[in-house]
Amino acid sequence: NSVFDHVVRAPEDPILGVTVAYNKDPSPVKLNLGVGAYRTEEGKPLVLNVVRKAEQTLVNDSSRVKEYLPIVGLADFNKLSAKLILGADSPAIQENRVATVQSLSGTGSLRVGAEFLARHYHERTIYIPQPTWGNHPKVFGLGGLSVKTYRYYDPATRGLNFQGLLEDLGSAPSGSVVLLHACAHNPTGVDPTPEQWEQIRQLIRSKALLPFFDSAYQGFASGSLDTDALSVRMFVADGGECFVAQSYAKNMGLYGERVGALSIVCSSADVASRVESQLKLVIRPMYSNPPIHGASIVATILKDRTLFQEWTIELKAMADRIISMRHQLFEALRSRGTPGDWSHIIKQIGMFTFTGLNSEQVAFMTKEYHIYMTSDGRISMAGLSSKTVPHLADAIHAAAT
Ligand code: PMP
Repeated sequence: NSVFDHVVRAPEDPILGVTVAYNKDPSPVKLNLGVGAYRTEEGKPLVLNVVRKAEQTLVNDSSRVKEYLPIVGLADFNKLSAKLILGADSPAIQENRVATVQSLSGTGSLRVGAEFLARHYHERTIYIPQPTWGNHPKVFGLGGLSVKTYRYYDPATRGLNFQGLLEDLGSAPSGSVVLLHACAHNPTGVDPTPEQWEQIRQLIRSKALLPFFDSAYQGFASGSLDTDALSVRMFVADGGECFVAQSYAKNMGLYGERVGALSIVCSSADVASRVESQLKLVIRPMYSNPPIHGASIVATILKDRTLFQEWTIELKAMADRIISMRHQLFEALRSRGTPGDWSHIIKQIGMFTFTGLNSEQVAFMTKEYHIYMTSDGRISMAGLSSKTVPHLADAIHAAAT
């Protein structure tokens, strides 16, 4: 007898559960396209050279100690992170009106932002895109916000439902929070064009909605850190307020280091400093203060011109390999004569392709071809290689025919 006898088994996380199932499969041809982590052509996890170098510098510096960081994290890291997403010449930074706290990767930053909003913001509803990363509704819901959705993806075109998006945000109550993926929308790989972003910005500002950017893939979509930050920078350039959650999981390959940041761009330096003081009250009882190692790696890279340059090259190589996988998969389907239009594979951007395969087709591919992916048909392009493209194309062909 246990006092926990009534506890029922919880289902696996829908995304992380894919890897659990993959690990149990003894097949030599099995392929894990569920995991949202970069893999090399050889299918191996990648530690960037520049990260190894930064770590070496840290290890060799005997003056470094393992003391606690402040509640808001490493000061250099916070400044450099804000600069990375907002731009070196951002007026908001120059005017000292950005409150930045180091947090536990993208997820932790979103959660801290949610709890701050639940405590201090007059409107408790956040609108998230339909569909979105599966963890979003839980993070914001448990963070104390009420979660609603806005139309985002159009299954018919496998592109953006721009009209639906404008209608839904247009009818959201004034002041509502709006979650926006800064780039490389997960799971669809569909982003608004710069012109569409401008229309979204005008609508959001005219209705006094509060934009909350989730930036988990800066540099990973286009290969350029600046291009991938355009959406956020448009919303900061107009002088309005916004939230940005940043993650270094993908773009520096620091997944397990749990390093990210939450920046709140405020209307004045005075507001920003009061906001920061309240962020500390959110963080202190949650995890006290953030871990030091990952943030030190990031700060070492961001503050050194040479290392920064090296990072941009390695980052672009990852982005380019993913883009090349898109082309290879598209060509492989074309050469097999697979029924249907697969051009969305090369039109979508970022780590994922939203294939349009339904859950039965996904189950078929897992059973017959040992290919693992989320049941919504999302595949991680980063998990593919030239060697595995033919196997995936065979499976999609069989599922679609
Ligand atoms: N937002 C989005 C859209 C994501 O895809 C992810 C990672 N899958 C995250 C946030 C958070 O990732 P992490 O907490 O590892 O930085």
